[in-house]
Amino acid sequence: MTRALPAPHRPQAAVDPPLLHVSALTVTYPQGRRRPPLRAVDTVDLQLAAGRTLGVVGESGSGKSTLGAAILGLVAPREGSVTFRGRDITHLGGAQLRALAPDLQVVFQDPYGSLNPTRTIGATLAEPLRLHRRWDAERARDRVEDVLSRVGLPPGTAQRYPAQFSGGQRQRIAIARALTMEPALVVCDEPVSALDLSVQAQVLNLLADLQAELGLAYLFISHDLAVVRHICDDVVVLYRGRVVESGPAARIYQHPQHPYTRALVNAAPLPDPAAQRARRLQRAAPTLTPPPPGVGPAGAAGCPYAPRCPLVQPACLTAVPALAPSAADREHLVACVRRDEPS
Ligand code: ADP
Ligand code: MG
Repeated sequence: MTRALPAPHRPQAAVDPPLLHVSALTVTYPQGRRRPPLRAVDTVDLQLAAGRTLGVVGESGSGKSTLGAAILGLVAPREGSVTFRGRDITHLGGAQLRALAPDLQVVFQDPYGSLNPTRTIGATLAEPLRLHRRWDAERARDRVEDVLSRVGLPPGTAQRYPAQFSGGQRQRIAIARALTMEPALVVCDEPVSALDLSVQAQVLNLLADLQAELGLAYLFISHDLAVVRHICDDVVVLYRGRVVESGPAARIYQHPQHPYTRALVNAAPLPDPAAQRARRLQRAAPTLTPPPPGVGPAGAAGCPYAPRCPLVQPACLTAVPALAPSAADREHLVACVRRDEPS
């Protein structure tokens, strides 16, 4: 099963190594000579088992895409490691990285940007099979037809060009492209964010069906908790590059503990109109407690969320709270000094 590190109650040796193991991963971007580098991903730990889905959530700019890119080898981490199938792939480059590609695929938000408009869908999808597997044209064509029909696209899709499809269809094409090589892991970076709600549901259902059928694992990146809830077994919540909360998805939705996660959960629309109405009324009441006297913005030493936190207290400004298990569930980790306090 998937869970964030560590699971203190279970001896590590007794569990199979996870498909993906990210350990203390840090990625920085330069911010010019006067400012220290931005820690876009900051000492992130996570694990993902074969056939499971791990959601990575957080508002825009929290480091989700950078984390995904570092796992895929598209940006170089400054510290930490990425282990895939027990192999350290943190600093692979060039040919070694390409050799890994069949197993580790990606679906981005904007499939149009990643599909060559001048080539037919069939030519684009067959390319990796010809290149990596050295399949002949006919065999590759058969596989491409098979995968395109599996993702629900009509016959004849392979002969057409990207511009001839709707956004939802193009996202299906991008998923088909990720699947042609039968990967073990697909990093999905906001794969439905650009789609209409009804099409979102179709694509999410498709991803879930394909997982059941093919045993794929997904690292599912989204700023939208409602979407992640649909599809994930486990969730990590990122705030400014750090994991502030992680654990089983149902637990995080029903009992979010970190004030940031609570704010994200409250911002996501509820499917039940009565519940949504009740929450709107509740929200109308003032919920932001002013910080206690003497509490200013957090310095480098404090909790990164302190400057925005309605529950901030002096202890939050002196140390970054460790990610530690909550009392009710050892797999539910929270980085907040008020962990386990009732909401
Ligand atoms: P998310 O996907 O959660 O929106 P990103 O990983 O794209 O977040 O960005 C995390 C942070 O890193 C943001 O502050 C963003 O501005 C910054 N960032 C992202 N890519 C680059 C880059 N190539 N160069 C410099 N800063 C970047
Ligand atoms: Mg992003």
